[in-house]
Amino acid sequence: MSAMSGKVVHNVFVSQCYLQNRQFVGTQYRRDSCAPYVRNLLPFQGGKLAWTGISSMQLRTLSKHQGPFVNRGTVHCNVAPTTSAVPAIDKVDFLKLQNGSDIRGVAVAGVEGEPVNLTEQVAEAIAAAFAGWLVEKKKADGSQRLRVSIGHDSRISAQQLQDAISRGIAGAGLDVVQYGLASTPAMFNSTLTEDHGFFCPVDGSIMITASHLPYNRNGFKFFTNAGGLGKADIKDILERAAVIYNNFTVEGLTNSKEKASASIRRVDYMTIYTSDLVNAVRKAAGNIEKPLEGFHIVVDAGNGAGGFFAAKVLEPLGAVTTGSQFLEPDGLFPNHIPNPEDKTAMKAITQAVLDNKADLGIIFDTDVDRSAAVDSTGHEFNRNRLIALMSAIVLEEHPGTTIVTDSVTSDGLTTFIEKKLGGKHHRFKRGYKNVIDEAIRLNSIGEESHLAIETSGHGALKENNWLDDGAYLMVGLLCRMLV
Ligand SMILES: [Zn+2]
Repeated sequence: MSAMSGKVVHNVFVSQCYLQNRQFVGTQYRRDSCAPYVRNLLPFQGGKLAWTGISSMQLRTLSKHQGPFVNRGTVHCNVAPTTSAVPAIDKVDFLKLQNGSDIRGVAVAGVEGEPVNLTEQVAEAIAAAFAGWLVEKKKADGSQRLRVSIGHDSRISAQQLQDAISRGIAGAGLDVVQYGLASTPAMFNSTLTEDHGFFCPVDGSIMITASHLPYNRNGFKFFTNAGGLGKADIKDILERAAVIYNNFTVEGLTNSKEKASASIRRVDYMTIYTSDLVNAVRKAAGNIEKPLEGFHIVVDAGNGAGGFFAAKVLEPLGAVTTGSQFLEPDGLFPNHIPNPEDKTAMKAITQAVLDNKADLGIIFDTDVDRSAAVDSTGHEFNRNRLIALMSAIVLEEHPGTTIVTDSVTSDGLTTFIEKKLGGKHHRFKRGYKNVIDEAIRLNSIGEESHLAIETSGHGALKENNWLDDGAYLMVGLLCRMLV
């Protein structure tokens, strides 16, 4: 595809060479899915309603929704090289793995100058450290075993890291519930969902993702029912992990592999999460079963974890999703970087909307905490324009409220929010967690805020527990289309 960047081409090439020489854990890796130039778009089906543009839509109530969703049955592409023996334990600088409130590292070898520092042993130590942190946090007295859910995006190192994380959690005496392919927001939701059949709510949750970074990276995000862990907690966990790691022995690691399986369960949690999203739209539309009937909406998941949105959310609501692209998980991201801030990615979804004469296009990042939209005329709603659109939606329901954004937003946006919409624009430090925390702080000191949104596409609503959920933002958009 002409839209591919040189860097991605390079990565695909390196990775293919790498993968060909290795043994694979899984059997579902499809070699053909790596071919970046051979993508067949689904044929266009006509007969949709004309869409008059997002700007003209009536912006109304965003219905309350606390959704969990997940999936696990369709874990296709999580294949990674494996080793049968436990290798010698290398020295690792754990604090270097911290990236704000996330953990990020290199999980796949083969890119020059990027040695692997997120090994299985490192992941196991970090998971054991999180387990210890969680037991202290929850003041668990031993009468009940704590539960931790684990999910991952489409990266090729996902499976091996999921196994390592599971061993770390199980080895610390906690129960593990694996969700397989999932979105980051779904993982947080699993700490809130009340459903004993799905072992919910869980006490803690780990998402294995490196968002839009290249295929060789991976990382972790952690949640409790109080939200995502912040910088200080991540530092604490990494310091604990370093101590645990230094006490690892080859024998101990081998034993933990054998022991772990007894405390691991698997559930299809994305089903719960997606059905909550579907119900939110139905409710907002006045309890109509298929409120999107007649709408043609194309989705671009960039081969990340967001493909569920077409088949599990839009189609049950009646929308036609023909022309949706890159829905299959493929951790080599052969088509474009899954990133709504990326020009090539936005061009790809815009083209898909125009080619299919669709009413709307929706694009997600790899782990679906960020999103953007494209209207029927090809206008992009990402960065400042997405903030403007979401501000208009929120300010209609909450007149005069404060919109918190990062510092790199435009002056034009301030004028729009304050002069046109009658709201207040509060700029704050970059970093989605900073922006969200600032909105929570403002509310705590009596300044009402309902939306925290970063230029990158991370947007969190107060009504959704301040969770930055790209799928929920787009559901909010759909709700406004219908009223
Ligand atoms: Zn992300």
